[in-house]
Amino acid sequence: MSARLTPVMQQHADAKRAHPDAIVFFRLGDFYEMFGDDAVVAAPLLELTLTSRNKGKPDEIPLAGIPHHAAAGYIARLLSLGHKVAICEQMADPAKCKGIVPRQVVRVITPGLVTEREHLESSANNFLAALEVTASAVGVSLFDFSTGELLSAELPDVPAALAELSRARPREVLVGFESETARPGVLEAVTALGRAALREDVAISDDETEAALGELAGDAAPLAPSARRAVARALRFARACNPGVELPARRIARWEPATLLAIDRVAQSHLELVESVSGRREATLLGVLDATNTPMGARLLRRRLLAPLTDVERIRRRLDLVESLVVHARLRDELTHELGQVGDIERLAVRCSLRAASPRDLGALRDGLLAARATVNVLERVADPGLRETLGLTEAGLDTVPELAARLERALVARPPVQAKDGEIFKPEFDAELAELAELRKSGTERMVELEARLKQETGIATLKIRFTRVFGWYIEVSRGQSSRVPEHYRRKQTVATGERYATQELDELADRIAHAEELHRERELLLLNELGAEAARESERVKALSREIARWDVAASMAHTAHRYDYTRPTVDASDQIVIRDGRHPVVERLAAQGRFVPNDVDLDLERERLWLITGPNMAGKSTLLRQVALAVILAQMGSFVPARSARIGVVDRVLSRVGASDNLAGGESTFMVEMRETAEILQNATRRSLVILDEIGRGTSTFDGLSIAWAVAEYLDEAICCRALFATHYHELTALGEGSRHAANYSVTAREQNGDVVFLHRLVAGAASRSYGIAVAKLAGLPETVLARARALLSTLEAGGVAPDAPKARTKSRAKTDQLPLFGARSEETRGHAEVLETLRALDIDRVTGLEALQFLARLKQKL
Ligand code: ADP
Repeated sequence: MSARLTPVMQQHADAKRAHPDAIVFFRLGDFYEMFGDDAVVAAPLLELTLTSRNKGKPDEIPLAGIPHHAAAGYIARLLSLGHKVAICEQMADPAKCKGIVPRQVVRVITPGLVTEREHLESSANNFLAALEVTASAVGVSLFDFSTGELLSAELPDVPAALAELSRARPREVLVGFESETARPGVLEAVTALGRAALREDVAISDDETEAALGELAGDAAPLAPSARRAVARALRFARACNPGVELPARRIARWEPATLLAIDRVAQSHLELVESVSGRREATLLGVLDATNTPMGARLLRRRLLAPLTDVERIRRRLDLVESLVVHARLRDELTHELGQVGDIERLAVRCSLRAASPRDLGALRDGLLAARATVNVLERVADPGLRETLGLTEAGLDTVPELAARLERALVARPPVQAKDGEIFKPEFDAELAELAELRKSGTERMVELEARLKQETGIATLKIRFTRVFGWYIEVSRGQSSRVPEHYRRKQTVATGERYATQELDELADRIAHAEELHRERELLLLNELGAEAARESERVKALSREIARWDVAASMAHTAHRYDYTRPTVDASDQIVIRDGRHPVVERLAAQGRFVPNDVDLDLERERLWLITGPNMAGKSTLLRQVALAVILAQMGSFVPARSARIGVVDRVLSRVGASDNLAGGESTFMVEMRETAEILQNATRRSLVILDEIGRGTSTFDGLSIAWAVAEYLDEAICCRALFATHYHELTALGEGSRHAANYSVTAREQNGDVVFLHRLVAGAASRSYGIAVAKLAGLPETVLARARALLSTLEAGGVAPDAPKARTKSRAKTDQLPLFGARSEETRGHAEVLETLRALDIDRVTGLEALQFLARLKQKL
């Protein structure tokens, strides 16, 4: 491009130079245009036609454009793909501007910095995360621009920081390295978390850090240096993207990751806490649990679910609050009713503070504040001092920002418009001057009606009309046949299908007066709106403080509602070594099961007695369900919720670690077995004595001997080295020897009964190992052909009869006598080796996936092996 740029294209070039990594939306009249590479990149993503400006000329440049009013959807799409969008606006009204309209980038929108409803999920935070990676620690900050929440902490290392990120699920992550030695692998690891847009951030100086933190409330003082820098990075980025705007962050909230229950990423997804494998929300714990009535409450509930506590006192305080609302059902119902009207005053407050609130937003803020007042009134009516204390009510009462609510109520009509330019924002009695201008405008219109009547009479033309359109203004219209009767002094303006349009001097003067009143009215309205917006902006911190209280009550009311509705019970949470659950249920499976069909079970883990439960039983018996329900009970209890059980005692756990279901979880590129082993390795590295580990079918992804040996060794390691509370489900019956031999391990099984070769699952957990695996019965249930089943039965009885001498893998096992009975081990003769192989092949078969033809081929292979 050697051609000199036109002034407009020069403006574009300047905007692009200032924001080289963003797609520039360049305002030209009613369009946002993208030029050059931006157009080439964005057009296919947005399904836009790529054209070019100045086609065939030396300064030809690719071009793609969108109507400005439709921008939100396109921006959302680009953000979801991790792009940044720089909005370059016209800074003056082109109609009033001589020469070229000034243009400027007013805002850079990035996934982590959106405030518009269309780009946000109302029930989840939208975090921008920043990491400060140093040689000895990692500072992490989380900033939700849409709510103004800001958190920061120092974590010991990169894995710990990643664990926090996988809880917070940021939309965007900035990574800065203080030390290059800490760099290897970090960016890749953050990328592997998925979902978030990743940006490497340039160095930040001490001065910059102090300046960025300077304006925050005192809470920043005790932060570690890396945590301070992480905050400064987030704020610097937000500031650069929002020039001239005061950031909504005023305080750093308390965040101590070390006092939270760690739930590793794998457990988070295996337990389907907030996302399910099927993608259905009702199949998640959050989906069952969430009965919140405000978006703030929904966000808080989600955060608490992903970050339960370990501090017994704090957990008890939360439980007290929930219990009080379970017991006082009337209070809960009244509270719930009022909460339902509050809406998202937190995000509205932020939009006000950014001066981005529409008249509709201000109306919503008014409604929300009034409902918040009503909510507080419900609570204030409580007289009982004990209950008041539990509810967190003080003598001083709660600030519900009444002046702002009153002022908004006095000012605004019931449902103000979305766009200020649409007018009709204020109540007529709110402002005398505005009322006068409205009167003037109205009387002008009335004068037009009078004029029309008079002209009709004067001319004798019955069809004469005075009308107004935006394009032509006021005019007199006379139907076709009557135009010859129009007086001389009428000026003809336009001919339309229905007749002729005229103007007169008198009409023009009156039209001017109306237009003037109209203009003054609009100006006055905008001025008042601006004042009202400024007032709301000034009070935004108070509104945010109120919304935090509302969120707390909303979450408590939601938990109480769920507890009542689904018959949950208050757990006893203490520092004991136990997890004792009576008649425990799986909160999600019980909802999906037919009414009353879920079979409750007891679990009794104790560090001093039985701490490792080995659970056997046929496929589909309910082993996984049982494992998960124990982990979920712990998570629920420690987040301060009631649990689905008749009773529960939970000695707090520091981590929940899990690995469930080999075939459910094929991560890109890696074999199931590799994934399984890596996850198992992580568990063994991270578990402590106070952790809860649940392992389901470890070793399934490899051959029987390998798998059994690994499962065995892992179970032993848990039992003897980590010594934590653990549940271990396995289909390897051989492993039950461990349960019989170890002091701290025990065998349990989920029962099934065989009836005429059919298996009936009882889903009941009983002491002792499963007597048999029912594999063939399950195979029948799955529809394997009868010939295959008959042959398998014959093979099984041969194998069982031929059980031979043992050779347990690395017999650290206590009881040789026990392992001696295991038929699989040490099959030495050729024949038994063949039998073993057949058995192994049978075991490896995933019956759910076998077609009829495959079953026959499978049978042929079995025969061959024998
Ligand atoms: P396994 O891990 O033993 O193969 P699952 O835990 O996956 O079995 O359970 C299989 C199915 O059985 C579940 O999808 C659920 O529908 C049902 N189920 C499991 N546990 C129970 C229970 N306690 N009561 C009723 N149904 C259950």
